[in-house]
Amino acid sequence: MTAGEYTAAADTHDLATGFGDTGSVGIAGLTLGGGVGYLVRKHGLTVDDLVSADIVTADGQLLHVDADTHPDLFWAIRGGGGNFGVATRFELRLHEAGAIFGGFLVLPATAEVVHRFVAEAESAPEELSTIASVMPAPPMPFIPAEHHGRLVVFAMLVYAGAVEAGQRAIAPFRALAAPIVDMVKPMRYPEVYPPEDEAYHPVALGHTMFVDSVGRGAADAIVDRLQHGSSPMCVAQIRVLGGAMARVPVDATAFAHRRSRIMVNLAALYERTQEKQEHADWLSRFADALHTGDDGAYVNFLADEGEARIRAAYPGRTWDRLAAIKARYDPTNLFRLNQNIPPARGS
Ligand SMILES: Cc1cc2nc3c(=O)[nH]c(=O)nc-3n(C[C@H](O)[C@H](O)[C@H](O)COP(=O)(O)OP(=O)(O)OC[C@H]3O[C@@H](n4cnc5c(N)ncnc54)[C@H](O)[C@@H]3O)c2cc1C
Repeated sequence: MTAGEYTAAADTHDLATGFGDTGSVGIAGLTLGGGVGYLVRKHGLTVDDLVSADIVTADGQLLHVDADTHPDLFWAIRGGGGNFGVATRFELRLHEAGAIFGGFLVLPATAEVVHRFVAEAESAPEELSTIASVMPAPPMPFIPAEHHGRLVVFAMLVYAGAVEAGQRAIAPFRALAAPIVDMVKPMRYPEVYPPEDEAYHPVALGHTMFVDSVGRGAADAIVDRLQHGSSPMCVAQIRVLGGAMARVPVDATAFAHRRSRIMVNLAALYERTQEKQEHADWLSRFADALHTGDDGAYVNFLADEGEARIRAAYPGRTWDRLAAIKARYDPTNLFRLNQNIPPARGS
């Protein structure tokens, strides 16, 4: 089942569970890795709404797991991905979120706008979650042609609350610069997933990271690096976190980046495979320029990047705890075609 299908069905009851930013993404992989979307500040991660799951483990058993039954496995599947078995059923908590206030806001991307956008998103009420992509304006029909190819902040803002309060929360963003596009309005929650172009499958190289802040210097770097990107379509996507997600104790789930303040996903879209190294170098230099000391990575945005990066997804004691649970439930590493956590030896 996809996030879009679930969200449309839940909306018939004026309810929603937060998934990611794209309707066609499957809820299984997204949930098992954590789930960061438009309700993250108001209601937390998708795993924070996971009440129970049915899992087929490596030995062929069908286990029902929740906080009281196989609590170790329940902890591990809330961030540990597909390492522990095949999820066949989830029980997810729903929230009242039928009518919301939100939509696309496209602003010209100067360093000042980028910096202040992030500052506003950090100080906004928790009802507001934002995903802002700094990128060349794509040639979409609702973006005036004179802006196509120019650097913009292409943001989706979602205020999960009453319209008037949403208007107030979003006013500071509208005031950052004359909006190029302002589609923010009262809407139904499923409209966060607009129709997708099924034929669009770009090849992209990405780098996911967390940062503590996007100060004016970092914003300068974002604008400068994107203006001199290795490909015509380079993106820095910024997601301010905090709120409900940050109130869950770090060790409550295998997703352990509760104190991380901002997720940044850098990407270069390209066409010819021989260009890959050039984009990898550009991404690596870009990531270095933004690094603020948080070495974590979000597992669901990792590609095939090697063990060090998978370990970065599971900081502190999380990796060892996961490896021990893996040894208990999948000692032969049957489930290894994933961001793999090998079983701890000698457990
Ligand atoms: C366009 C796009 C946008 C995205 N946006 C977001 C976002 O906003 N927020 C976010 O948090 N993530 C986002 N993601 C990342 C997404 O969470 C991961 O790609 C996730 O793995 C997708 O889940 P899936 O079920 O569609 O994946 P699949 O490709 O089907 O599976 C990926 C992996 O997930 C595991 N898995 C999948 N299904 C099961 C199952 N039933 N049981 C056990 N393991 C399973 C397996 O390890 C599998 O290899 C996005 C991805 C894409 C492509």
